[in-house]
Amino acid sequence: MYTDYTNCRLCPRECKVNRNNGEVGFCGASAEAEVNRIDLHFMEEPVISGKNGSGTVFFTHCTMRCIFCQNKEISRRSSVGKKISAEQLAEQYIILEQKGAHNINLVSPTQYMPTIKKSIEIAKQNGIKIPFVYNTSGFERPEIIKGLKDYIDIFLTDYKYQSPFLAKEYSNCEDYPDFIIDAISQMIKITGSPVLNDDGILKKGTIIRHLMLPGQLSDTLKIMNKVKKYFNDTALFSLMRQYTPTGDNLPDELRRTISDLEYSTATEEFEALGLEGFVQSDSSVGTDKIPNFSQSI
Ligand code: SF4
Repeated sequence: MYTDYTNCRLCPRECKVNRNNGEVGFCGASAEAEVNRIDLHFMEEPVISGKNGSGTVFFTHCTMRCIFCQNKEISRRSSVGKKISAEQLAEQYIILEQKGAHNINLVSPTQYMPTIKKSIEIAKQNGIKIPFVYNTSGFERPEIIKGLKDYIDIFLTDYKYQSPFLAKEYSNCEDYPDFIIDAISQMIKITGSPVLNDDGILKKGTIIRHLMLPGQLSDTLKIMNKVKKYFNDTALFSLMRQYTPTGDNLPDELRRTISDLEYSTATEEFEALGLEGFVQSDSSVGTDKIPNFSQSI
């Protein structure tokens, strides 16, 4: 039993439910970690995927549950995965390393953080050498991130919103902008500035990702300026245009992809600010770019 699941305060929602006693909070996760897909993944930034792929573990449930979620098949409240222990997770990490993975990429890990920490301890005792990536929405309590020192080498974090209104409308968390700067600062304290190996693969560091949303260019520009102000030279920035409308319940403004004009304006700002990092090509758009979540474990 992990005591952090009792009176759960693992994310800023601080539901204070006793998951060890069968209660569930906003995310819907129980006290047993659950995964949907474990596999090599090639769709991350080139410094993460490399040519061998990133050893990716897709955890089920999510602390944000954005209405436009590209992974909504597994981020919803109901159970859609397979229960897995820390020991079994560690075994899977070793298998991924043996398959050639450049890293272990923990996607949507926050709600299972205690189990994940234990699994990393076990994998390290068993000799795993590749870096661990914490792939998060960015909706994190800085003190929880601080506890990941000695476990995580790379943070791959979203910076979703600067506007509290958008955060409330799309993810029911208007306090997202209150947490994001402190959370990323804590990540960078742990990783330091980005370091690549001889093959151009990230060994340690933080990548800040921003998924552009249709009609929200001004928020994107504010976010890039915040990144420049607070994290210039200490993190890489990844500007993503892959937003694809999925599901029937989206508001009208989210029922289209990013326009060429929106994207070119954003990339011009990226260059004008001198940000270090990545921009995506048009070919990144489309539902065929969303992983197949059918319990591949
Ligand atoms: S991890 Fe889940 S239960 Fe815990 S505080 Fe966050 S949303 Fe609530």
